[in-house]
Amino acid sequence: MRKQIVAGNWKMNTTVEEGVQLAKDVLAKSAEVGNGVKLITGVPFTHLYPVSQIIGSSNIGLAAQNCADEPKGAFTGEVSVAMLKSVGTQYCILGHSERREYYTETSEKLVKKMALALEAGISPIFCVGERLDQREAGEHFNVVKAQIEEVLFTLSAEQMANVIVAYEPVWAIGTGKTATAEQAQEIHAFIRKTIASKFGSKIADDTTILYGGSCKPSNAKELFACPDIDGGLIGGASLKADDFIAIAKSF
Ligand code: PEP
Repeated sequence: MRKQIVAGNWKMNTTVEEGVQLAKDVLAKSAEVGNGVKLITGVPFTHLYPVSQIIGSSNIGLAAQNCADEPKGAFTGEVSVAMLKSVGTQYCILGHSERREYYTETSEKLVKKMALALEAGISPIFCVGERLDQREAGEHFNVVKAQIEEVLFTLSAEQMANVIVAYEPVWAIGTGKTATAEQAQEIHAFIRKTIASKFGSKIADDTTILYGGSCKPSNAKELFACPDIDGGLIGGASLKADDFIAIAKSF
């Protein structure tokens, strides 16, 4: 059965001290969240270890926001999946549109990162989504299908069972514009159908598909009520413990 998940993506925000305080605030309020709902905090590399010490064995999972596309070696500035694993990382956001746009994160690189993460026992939170011009041109289904085919279709069924998918329309990220519940449900159902076409309906039904893009306490309820939306990947609103927890209480 698929899980209900609310994952925060702190991006490049907070100092370690501020991040530790935010993690403490989220932990303190996490008991308010329904039993079946999993919380994940996606923190900067520098915060992984200190935040892991705060969240311990609670219901809060620990996510990195990227990993290297090589296992080890002379790759200055990169962070490997083994390093992530060694500080308790359980999830890794991969294919976020900001990385695709600013850091040449191609499908080719993502195939390598996904395989390395899964091999290390880290579950990828794999992001897909179209830009505004692509949606306006009616290309959004094709764009998302290609992103899925180029990366997820390289996985085995066993690997796919450990992947979380996030649909994040680029035009809704950090813009205050949210996809309507109808727009989001339509493409989430399409994503599930696309996954089913390769991996079968059992794996597709069990795949958690998150919505991301200006999700906040005021719109989370309507989005999470949709049959194919299993939670959210939350950027801006994850930086305030009250808002993050309010979103997680919106199922
Ligand atoms: C994100 O970047 O993953 C995101 C969903 O950001 P925001 O919630 O700020 O739109």
